[in-house]
Amino acid sequence: MTEYGLYIGGKWIKSDSGKTFPTANPATGETLATFQVGTQKDVDKAIEAAEKALPRWKKFPPPKRGEILLRAAAIMRARKDELGKLVTQEMGKILAEGKGDVQEAIDFLEYISGEGRRMLGETTPSELPNKLCLTLRQPIGVVGCITPWNFPMAVPCWKLGAALITGNTIVYKPATLTPLCAATLAEILEQAGLPAGVLNMVTGPAEVVGDAIVQHLSIRAVSFTGSVAAGKDIYAKAARMLKRVGLELGGKNPQIVMDDARMDLALEGVLFGAFGTAGQRCTATSRLIAQEKVYDELLEKLLVRTKGLKVGNPLDPAVDVGPVASAEQENKVLKYIQIGIEEGAKILCGGRKQTGLQYDKGFFIEPTIFEARHGMRITKEEIFGPVLSVVKVRTYEEAVKVANDVEYGLSSSIYTSNVNTAFRAMEDLEAGVTYINAPTIGAEVHLPFGGVKNTGNGAREAGTEAIHEFTEIKSVFIDFSGKLQKAQITE
Ligand code: NAP
Repeated sequence: MTEYGLYIGGKWIKSDSGKTFPTANPATGETLATFQVGTQKDVDKAIEAAEKALPRWKKFPPPKRGEILLRAAAIMRARKDELGKLVTQEMGKILAEGKGDVQEAIDFLEYISGEGRRMLGETTPSELPNKLCLTLRQPIGVVGCITPWNFPMAVPCWKLGAALITGNTIVYKPATLTPLCAATLAEILEQAGLPAGVLNMVTGPAEVVGDAIVQHLSIRAVSFTGSVAAGKDIYAKAARMLKRVGLELGGKNPQIVMDDARMDLALEGVLFGAFGTAGQRCTATSRLIAQEKVYDELLEKLLVRTKGLKVGNPLDPAVDVGPVASAEQENKVLKYIQIGIEEGAKILCGGRKQTGLQYDKGFFIEPTIFEARHGMRITKEEIFGPVLSVVKVRTYEEAVKVANDVEYGLSSSIYTSNVNTAFRAMEDLEAGVTYINAPTIGAEVHLPFGGVKNTGNGAREAGTEAIHEFTEIKSVFIDFSGKLQKAQITE
C-alpha cells in the first residue's frame, strides 16, 4: 500500500499531524493508497514554498510554461488507459467516462498551453499626442485551488493549467475522496518539468486545509469548484480580505423536449445526461421537461431503456452505471428519494440501494425516475445522483418558466426541430451553457464554462476566459513626447 506525502517545494513530505487517511474504490471498498491528514502548519509550509518559487516562475517565459503543460499532456496521452482506470477505481465512473475525464484534462492542457503565446492585452491610442496606452496581463501571485471529486483529472487540470500558464504558483487541495488522481497529476507535472514549489498539494479535511487556504492572507485568489454551501462559505470569508474568488458550483439542469423534437435523439440525450457518471456531474440532467403530446411516449421508452441499464463495477465494460462516490453520497441520494416519495412524486423505476453479491461492497443506487410536479424539492434541489424527475408542460413558455425556476443556472438543453424555438431558447434559458438537440453534458474545453445565479459568481473556466480568473490587468501609459502632458487638464 503506497503512503503518499504532501507535495511541498518539490518534495513528498509527511504531515505535521502524523496522521493518514485512506482513499478507496467506491465499487469494491478496496483501499487504493493512503494520504496525509494535512494541517494549518502544512498549508503554511506550502504557501512559503509557493512564495519562494513565485519570482522565478513569474519571469519564466509563458511559451516555455506552455511547453511544460504540453509535455504533461503528452505524458497523460501516453498513459491514458492507465489513468482512465485510475479515475474509475478511485471515483467510480465507468471506464469510458474515466478515459473521457483524462481526455478532457489532456485537451485543456493542450489548449491552454497556447495561451503562453497569446495572453492578449490591448493597445489603444491616447487622448494626448505622442503617447501610447496598453494593457498587460500579469499573474496574481500565490493562488489556492480547491477541487471536487467528480472530475478528478479534468477539473484540476482546468484550474492548475490556467493558473500555471499565467505565471501563478499554487497551493492545491484536492477532494478527500480522490487524492490519488491529484497526486498522480502532480507527479506528471513534475515529470514534465514543472519547477519545485510552483505547485504544492496539501491533502486533508475541508475545514482545516481548505479553510487555511481560503483564510491565509498570502493567497491572493481562490479558485473553487464544489457545492453551493461551500462556495458561499468561501466567498464570504475571502470577501473580508478582498480576495479574488472564482466559484463553479452546483446545477439542477433541465432537458426540455418539445412536441416537434426527434424522439430518438431526445431519448438518447436524457439517458446519457441523467445516468452518465451515475448522475454525479455538475451538468447532469436532473429534470426532464416534456411537452404534453410527446410526454407519454417518451416516458414509456425512457422507462424501458432505464430499466435495461446495467449497474455494477465500472471497470466491467458491459456496465452502464457505476456506484455513487461514497457512503455520504449514497445517504444523500437515498434521502432525496425518500423526500420525493413523501412529497407525493410517483416513482416509476428504481428508488432503492442495490444490494446482494458485488453490490454490498460498494455504493450502488438503482437508476431512478420520478414523475413529479414542478415545485417539489426533488425538482428544485441538486441531488447529484442517478435520479431524474420528469415534469409535463403544455407550452414552450411554460417549459422555459419551469426550467428557469430554480436557484441554479449551469447547463440546459432543448430538443426541437423548430429553428425559431431553438433560437428563442438560446436566449431564454437562464444558464451558462445551453445545448440544442444535445444533452446537458458534453462541454468542450475551448468554450467558456460556468453558470449563472447560484451556480457561481460570474467566473468562467476553460476557453479564452480561463486566464481572466488568474490574471491582473495592468494599464500602462507610455509618453514619448519629451514633455509633461496632463490628461483631462486643459488650463
Ligand atoms: P464540496 O463538498 O463543496 O467539496 C468540494 C471541495 O471543496 C473539496 O475539496 C472539499 O474538501 C472542499 N471544501 C468543502 N467545503 C469547504 C470549505 N468550506 N472551505 C474550503 N474547502 C471546502 O463538493 P463535492 O461534493 O466535492 O462536489 C460536488 C459538488 O460540486 C456538486 O454541487 C457539483 O454540482 C459541484 N461541481 C460543480 C462544477 C462546476 O463546474 N460548476 C463541476 C464539478 C462539480 P473535502 O473533500 O475534504 O470535503
